[in-house]
Amino acid sequence: NRTDLTLECRVMPYGTQFLMIVRDVTQQRKLEKMRKHFISNVSHELRTPLTVLRGYLEMLDDELPDPAIWIRAHQMMSEQAIRMDNLVNQLLVLARIEAAPVISAQEEIDVPKLMDILEHEVRQLASNKELTFCFKVDECLWMRGSIEQMRSAFTNLVHNAVKYCNQPGHIEVSWQCDSQCGRFAVTDSGPGILPKHLLRLTERFYRVDKDRSRDTGGAGLGLSIVKHALQHHRSELSIDSEFGKGSCFSFIIPDDLMLHKDHE
Ligand code: ADP
Repeated sequence: NRTDLTLECRVMPYGTQFLMIVRDVTQQRKLEKMRKHFISNVSHELRTPLTVLRGYLEMLDDELPDPAIWIRAHQMMSEQAIRMDNLVNQLLVLARIEAAPVISAQEEIDVPKLMDILEHEVRQLASNKELTFCFKVDECLWMRGSIEQMRSAFTNLVHNAVKYCNQPGHIEVSWQCDSQCGRFAVTDSGPGILPKHLLRLTERFYRVDKDRSRDTGGAGLGLSIVKHALQHHRSELSIDSEFGKGSCFSFIIPDDLMLHKDHE
């Protein structure tokens, strides 16, 4: 009685009779569809900046070398090149994380140090924005896992808060002990997200506001990277958001992956 199955049916002669083979290809078709969708998204995301680049190159062929036009063209072309570079980097990170074994690397991760670097980085990044920051980091709380994956998870969430937060705005980042587990949370006073989008945010290439997100250079891969990185650490992204007020992206790292450096 199921209507969600795709079946492939083959009939072949079998002696004086016929043999009918029915195969359930639902999963296979679903994967093919996802693969096609993925390739079409990647092509689209790469073609958009390439079209802008080609447009400017053609314009520079025609125009007399007016310095103002050159300056504008140079700026636009650099932005598009950075955008393509970011996209390719994110695709590589995602591919590496997806291909990694489910039990991720068991490196000792000095999370407070990662937080310190991240804090310097975002303060620089947001130096021309009206944003205030508060980092609350438990200096004794380390964890085990993959440094590359966890760095991606922390960085993407904090960078998103900076990208999407309205100005003037406030961003709070915390890494604290919660009943022997480690809890990471980024809270922003940004635009918030409507409930209908929440469940889809970690899908590859999903963006709430494509135009705004494109302005910020995002291709909709960041949260997908976070989701996969957390899965490898038996954790899950939780998103609480109130439209017009702000959002909180958080996750909990299980106690057996935690290292409490003060107890050593
Ligand atoms: P992107 O590269 O577009 O930022 P992400 O996967 O990181 O992709 O995020 C997916 C979408 O989720 C974004 O396009 C944005 O619409 C929304 N989003 C992510 N973080 C925030 C946030 N802190 N506040 C509001 N919207 C957010």
